[in-house]
Amino acid sequence: MAQRLLIMGPQGVGKGTQAALLAEHYGIPAISTGDIFRYNLKNGTPLGKEAQGYIDKGELVPDELTNKIVEDRLGMDDAKQGWILDGYPRSASQVEALDAMLQNLDTPLSAVVALDADRTVLMERMEKRAKIEGRTDDTPEVIAKRLDVYAHETKPLLDVYGERGVLIRVDGVGEIASISKTIIDQLDALHA
Ligand code: AMP
Repeated sequence: MAQRLLIMGPQGVGKGTQAALLAEHYGIPAISTGDIFRYNLKNGTPLGKEAQGYIDKGELVPDELTNKIVEDRLGMDDAKQGWILDGYPRSASQVEALDAMLQNLDTPLSAVVALDADRTVLMERMEKRAKIEGRTDDTPEVIAKRLDVYAHETKPLLDVYGERGVLIRVDGVGEIASISKTIIDQLDALHA
């Protein structure tokens, strides 16, 4: 069965790592809006230039830009057999936009994976990552801002997907492989 998945959770919870493992397991592309923005920033594209100010402050890039890149990406050939979206949707209006895209493509969402961990763990992990990756938006102030944006704009979306009966909640603290196995077991149970 084609899997069309969202992976949600605060920055530093391990979404990117788990998205890559799920992508490999199901043979689908992992699509990260943050990665798409960073690629455009690095290459100095018009999209990158427009997005830069928001990313550097830890704010959400406006919907017109963000929704468009997701719509374009989901329309590509390698997304026909499923995908996992990491970092999108992040606001109620993005949920609406995604609903409309999926209706147009006539492909329903399979499930939403929500990872969670407490704030101290997240801050520690992100400070470590900042040293390794040197991301410009991994300063303590911007990290705190991104966690606040998540709490206010994105976390409430979990209730929306919970009501739709497609939400799986998994603890983001533990061994990477065992977290991945828990997610896959729960996804398989949801559609059994
Ligand atoms: P991430 O790598 O997912 O943490 O994303 C890095 C930054 O890219 C975020 O702090 C936002 O500025 C921007 N971004 C990524 N995804 C979205 C989205 N769905 N909506 C708005 N901005 C986004």
